[in-house]
Amino acid sequence: MGDILKRGTSADGGVRIFAAVTTELAEKARKIHDTFPVATAALGRTLTAGVLMSAAGLKTETDSLTIQIKGDGPLGSIIVCADSKPNVRGYVGNPFVDLPLNAAGKLDVGGAVGRGSLSIVRDLGLKEPYIGQVPLVSGEIAEDITMYYAKSEQIPTAVGLGVLVDRDYSVLSSGGFMVQMMPGSTDETAQLIEKNLKNADSVTSMIAGGMTAEEIIFAVAEGIDFFIENSEVVPEYKCTCSKERMEKALISIGYDELSRLIEEQGEAELSCQFCENKYNFSKNELEELLRQASDRKKPR
Ligand SMILES: [Zn+2]
Repeated sequence: MGDILKRGTSADGGVRIFAAVTTELAEKARKIHDTFPVATAALGRTLTAGVLMSAAGLKTETDSLTIQIKGDGPLGSIIVCADSKPNVRGYVGNPFVDLPLNAAGKLDVGGAVGRGSLSIVRDLGLKEPYIGQVPLVSGEIAEDITMYYAKSEQIPTAVGLGVLVDRDYSVLSSGGFMVQMMPGSTDETAQLIEKNLKNADSVTSMIAGGMTAEEIIFAVAEGIDFFIENSEVVPEYKCTCSKERMEKALISIGYDELSRLIEEQGEAELSCQFCENKYNFSKNELEELLRQASDRKKPR
C-alpha cells in the first residue's frame, strides 16, 4: 500500500479529519539516516505529523512549516520540515539511540526525547513567520502536537501517530490521523469522536492491519455524516538541497570563518543534514566564495 494523505469534513463543517499512510516515506528516512528503532519511530511520527499539519495549515505552494522538538533525552533534537504538497524531510540529533522497551512493551519514544519544548514555525509568505512553542507533554509526539494546537492555536485537536519497526529494523508500517473541532461544532459530534477514539485500535495496529487512510477517517468519524475528498495526495520524503544552497550556506559563515577553512583544510565536503548528500568544494571554488563573502563584508 503506497503512501497517501486523505482529508474529510463532517456535513455540518464542525469537524475535519486528516489521515495519512506514511510507511514509504518513514522507511526512506530510516534508510537515509540509518536510525535505530526508537529513533526511527520518533522521526517517522514527526514526519507524519508534518504531513498532517501541512494538510491542516498550509495553502500556497511556497508555504512551509518546521517542527522542532528539543528534548533533554538521548535522542537530541528532532527537526522536520514540510511544504504544502506535502513533501517532508527531517533528522534527529542521535540516530543510534538504543533504549529498552517501555512499560507498555513499546518503543520508548518519550524516554528518548525527554523533557523540553516543541516549536512550530509556519512560514506563510508574510513578513514574519508564525512561531508557537509549548512544553513537551510526554515526548511521544502525538500528545505534544495535540497540546500545541490547544495552547498555541486554540483548536481542539486529537492526534494519533504510529510507526511499527520490523525485526530487521525496516519500517513495517507508519501513519497517523488528526481530528480538529472547528468553530460551530456541536457537543454531540465531539462526544461521538471521543467515543470513537476510545474504542479505536492504536494507529499502529490500524495501519499494520492494512486499514487505508479513508478507513481510518471513517473509523474516527463513525456515526457522523462525513465526506472524504476524492483527491489522491501522495506525501513524499524529499530534500531541497543543492550545491547552490550549500554555497550560500558557506558564504553566510562569513569571511573570517571561510578563510580559516581554506587555510586549514584547503577544500571542503559538506553533507546535507536532511538527505546526507555530499557536496565537495575545491580550493578554487572556496576562494571564489571567499571573494563573494568579502564583497558582502564591504560597507556600501
Ligand atoms: Zn539534502
